Amino acid sequence: MCRNGVLLEVVTRGGRCLWLVSGDEQAPEWDGEELTDRELAARLCAECSARRACLELELRTAGLDTLGVWGGLSEEDRRALYPVWLARRGRRGGPSS
Ligand code: SF4
Repeated sequence: MCRNGVLLEVVTRGGRCLWLVSGDEQAPEWDGEELTDRELAARLCAECSARRACLELELRTAGLDTLGVWGGLSEEDRRALYPVWLARRGRRGGPSS
């Protein structure tokens, strides 16, 4: 299995937000207040066991085209992180897939 496949499996198994598709009764209770993406990321992803995998998967697959909340960050924060992540990945000689 390629690295992206492994990351996807980790997120699919452990992603806290998966109540959206699974109907899990552990969904957090929202109080109806309007949240910025940063606030939503902080609330939604803070205790997610798949957070690191989720962030890496999104950086790998969406890059600067990323949208919404993934991996504990807003799209604005991930776009700011992306060039740094790319540079670090290049220095490590990381795999391309
Ligand atoms: S880090 Fe956030 S967006 Fe990613 S799987 Fe976990 S809860 Fe969902």
